[in-house]
Formats: sequence, C-alpha cells, structure tokens
Amino acid sequence: MDTAKVVRQHLEMDDFFTAGVTLKGQKARQEQMQVQQSAIELEKVAGQVRQCRKCGLGSLRTNAVPGEGNPAASIFFIGEGPGADEDAQGRPFVGRAGKLLDKIISAMGLKRSDVFIGNVLKCRPPDNRDPKGDEIVSCLPYLQRQIELINPDVIVALGAHAAKTLLETNKSIGQLRGQFHEYYSGIGRPAMKLMATYHPAYLLRNYSTDNRKRVWEDMKKVLAELELPLPQAGKR
Ligand code: URA
Repeated sequence: MDTAKVVRQHLEMDDFFTAGVTLKGQKARQEQMQVQQSAIELEKVAGQVRQCRKCGLGSLRTNAVPGEGNPAASIFFIGEGPGADEDAQGRPFVGRAGKLLDKIISAMGLKRSDVFIGNVLKCRPPDNRDPKGDEIVSCLPYLQRQIELINPDVIVALGAHAAKTLLETNKSIGQLRGQFHEYYSGIGRPAMKLMATYHPAYLLRNYSTDNRKRVWEDMKKVLAELELPLPQAGKR
C-alpha cells in the first residue's frame, strides 16, 4: 500500500468537504495527519540516504546517518557530518559532541525527542576530515528536503560548515554566531530563521567559560524567538 498516497487523499478529502471552513477538531486532525505525512516523507529521505552512492563517502561508511527526531520539531539542529560513533550506530550526535549537545538541549528545557537532529553530510568523512565541496553538493538535497518537510521555526547551525553551507557565505563562525540569519529554502518560500553557534566538538576542544556562555546566549535567543520559557539556572 502507498501510505503516503492514502494520507494525501485523506487530507484532500477533508479540504474538499470542509471547503476551507474547518472546525477546531478537524484542524487539529489535519495538522496531525500532516505530521504523519512528513514522518513518512522523512523516512523516504532516510531510505534514499541509506542507498546513496553519489559521492565517494558512500563506499567508506559503515552506516549512513540520515538524521532523526520529531517530524514536527520547532528546532532543527544541524551539524557537519557523522564521526566514528555516529558511523557505527547510524545515528547523529551520539559521541562526545553528541553528549554535549544533549546537555545543551536539556538546559533549554527540551528533550532530544522534541527536536530534529541532522547533518550537512550523511556519511562520515575519513578521519573526520572537513567535508569536500563535491560531497556537500551531492548531499545537500537530502538536508534541504528534510528542512522543507520539518519546516522548523528555527534552524540551529552547529559550527562553521553547517552555517556557511546553509547561508552560502564565507564568513567565519565567530562572525555568524549570536544573531539570527535568514535561510532560504526555495524561490517563493518564506525565509526561515537560522541561528549559528559553535559546534559542540569545538566547544569540547576549546573549552572556556566564555565560549560556553556564548553558546548559551545563542540558545537563549532561540528560546526567546520561540517564546519558550528560560529554564532555571541549575540545569546548565
Ligand atoms: N559531529 C557532527 O557534526 N555531527 C554528528 O552527528 C556528530 C558529530
């Protein structure tokens, strides 16, 4: 059965019969079905990523790492690419940097299951080297589709590679972080808010109270943008 098609037909039928005048319960149901539809489409993207051989990384990986999380997430955290732990498990941000990202998410009063987490590259570059231009070009359509499906209120670009790729700029992460930028997902689509911040791995390598505070300042701006409460200080 083509589940995606069935969901789409239900949504179209709802629209037809309500002729735009939707009752509260119906609206909630439609939203729920749209989320289900996104989840199905995200799973399709994940399937394509797992089959992908568009660049050389495809033959080097143990597991592709498509990304994971809430299909209706308000926040989409985007890193650079999988490391050794992620390659072994097929899941994003599960190593040391991932543990720190978990702490950041929890300090924001959120759970990992509230957000979506992914990367620019879906396969691990050998020895964790920087992504190459052709690898980014091959892989980017998967991320772009994920962003389109999740339609988050805020994208958090973790580190220079994610920020520069999504904003198509050569500015440094030091220049980009701490302020909202506009991410354009396509012609005619409204811009999305993007906050750039330091990558958790950078924070681990260059730990200082100042750097930690900078990341927290960035995340406080994200919470304020989403009108989410600022958790008590003890959590960070
Ligand atoms: N670093 C990243 O950029 N992504 C991961 O998934 C893990 C570490």
